[in-house]
Amino acid sequence: MEFEKKRRLMVENQIVRRGVTDERVIQAMLKVPRHLFLEEAVWESAYGDFPLPIGEGQTISQPYMVAVMTEKLELDKDSCVLEIGTGSGYQTAILAEICGQVFTIERIAALEKRARKKLEELGYTNIAFKIGDGTLGWSGLAPYNGILITAGSPKVPELLFSQLKEGGRMVIPIGNSFSQILTVVRKKDGKKIEEPCFGCTFVPLIGREGWEDA
Ligand code: SAH
Repeated sequence: MEFEKKRRLMVENQIVRRGVTDERVIQAMLKVPRHLFLEEAVWESAYGDFPLPIGEGQTISQPYMVAVMTEKLELDKDSCVLEIGTGSGYQTAILAEICGQVFTIERIAALEKRARKKLEELGYTNIAFKIGDGTLGWSGLAPYNGILITAGSPKVPELLFSQLKEGGRMVIPIGNSFSQILTVVRKKDGKKIEEPCFGCTFVPLIGREGWEDA
């Protein structure tokens, strides 16, 4: 089956059917060639309803998870978003389709290099990359309309929260290193308003305000 057709089925069966309605998210997921962010050996599984390994012990998130997290950020063309955990770069591409500007941080240099190359090849010009501990944020460009953390965290990293705009949203899996609750954290009058959504499983966020390196 052609990849474009697989993508359409992925969006219909895994994303729209499960309740995602944001048209910008749906269009982005129809457009971005998810298989290109994976090794050719697993291209046939690229549109399946599951996460997949991307090397270095890390994973590309399940398509539905990417869609829901993006929808919950409530972004548009005027938004500036910070992503922690570039990984394959697939989620980064989805954000770049929707937002004016994306800043993304990855702690593993080999993954950052591969993701950057792929995203540049695909022609994205609104993404800035950084290698390092994302729990420390990216102060020069703060505050952000949205912050997305694509790794499981023990708590809301305070520095990251301080870099969120008033009225902005952070989407973050909070829990232990085996399972988390996907949580939306809004900033209202400088304070956190946390809305737990549903259970999920992400690789650990490793850093000063995350988990210690094993
Ligand atoms: N959105 C990515 C998810 C990759 S998995 C995708 O769908 O491909 C999570 C990523 O977070 C991993 O690549 C991991 O190396 C990275 N990560 C973990 N802790 C981090 C930290 N403190 N700063 C930056 N990246 C981190």
